[in-house]
Amino acid sequence: MSTPQSGPEMVKVNLLGLSRRKMEDFFVAMGEKKFRASQVIKWIHQHGVDDFEAMTDVSKALRLRLAEVAEIRGPEVLLHETSTDGTRKWVMRMAEGNSIEAVLIPEGERGTLCVSSQVGCSLDCSFCSTGKRGFNRNLSAAEIIGQVWVAMRTFMPYDRNKERPITNVVMMGMGEPLLNFDNVVDAMDLMMDDWAYGISKRRVTVSTAGVVPAINKLGEVSDVSLAISLHAPNNALRNELVPINRKYPIEMLLEATSNYLSGLSDKRKATIEYTLIQGVNDQPHHAEELSVLLRDLPCKINLIPFNPFPESHYQRPSGNAIKRFQDVLNRDGYVATVRTPRGDDIDAACGQLVGQFEDRTKRSARYIQVQQLAADAQNVKILQ
Ligand code: SAH
Repeated sequence: MSTPQSGPEMVKVNLLGLSRRKMEDFFVAMGEKKFRASQVIKWIHQHGVDDFEAMTDVSKALRLRLAEVAEIRGPEVLLHETSTDGTRKWVMRMAEGNSIEAVLIPEGERGTLCVSSQVGCSLDCSFCSTGKRGFNRNLSAAEIIGQVWVAMRTFMPYDRNKERPITNVVMMGMGEPLLNFDNVVDAMDLMMDDWAYGISKRRVTVSTAGVVPAINKLGEVSDVSLAISLHAPNNALRNELVPINRKYPIEMLLEATSNYLSGLSDKRKATIEYTLIQGVNDQPHHAEELSVLLRDLPCKINLIPFNPFPESHYQRPSGNAIKRFQDVLNRDGYVATVRTPRGDDIDAACGQLVGQFEDRTKRSARYIQVQQLAADAQNVKILQ
């Protein structure tokens, strides 16, 4: 990092996105001691501070210098909604006017924040609404960790020893995290940093549609948990649903996953995500094939009933079909859970994050219609 200089045309460094190492480099470049990094990280991420003046254990002189060369700039919250089931969604405006969504799913003692890594997505999986809108750009590390920062600030002040509104983070929002590798790794480092959010490596999960070289690289620099968006038990079907499979087929993907797990210092399982789509990948023979395919991989399976969206012709399978699929896997000794749709009254369920704030009213009207059809079929209660 170059030496920070002051001057009228200087762009201020946004400290929000600096990992510990980068923050230390920043302070060293200012002629300061490294330990300032921990102090400032704590103020920003544990106290939610965005004003150097509030950093009372930093000298007045340094606070003034910091204000000249740096800033703490989080995303602007455009909308914050809470679903009838307690799920919260934030729509946040990022630089260049793009907006993205982050979702917090409370479940008993647990609070799982679903974070976005890109504006849009380039992978174009056939059942995902984010992909239908194309790819816009990568989020910066500040914009990624900014989602955690915004969500945490909602609950402040709170006693960290008694209450943890966010216990888990999953990189399962918009975008393919492993195609925005460096920024995602920096942001995840902050999630796990004891001076920032201190979330255990087991509870920070990166989810990928299967960017195999990046999984290999991840093993060299991080030890977060890994989720694989598989969605099909064979290459012919997966080529259709997840086009990146044509480049990195299932065998390569599972081998990389297995290598990643063996490189970890603790025993951990991968999460296999499988979106169930009626008549496409939800038949008992698909479950049988999946069961054989995953035989040698330490994993748990997360079945996600397809969440409909206006541009899609796919349907969610019936409750019986989902149960049948799950039963085959359980019978074979897998831990296979069904992810109950959460927050779908506020368009916060998987595959519904599109981050198009401007279109939201229009989209919601159509969306509720589609959702109502699906709900009627299954007696899922939704909000009007
Ligand atoms: N690109 C990454 C992370 C984002 S997707 C990945 O593919 O893993 C997060 C999860 O939601 C993925 O498993 C994805 O396949 C699933 N998903 C996407 N659209 C969905 C939909 N319409 N219904 C249900 N699940 C969906």
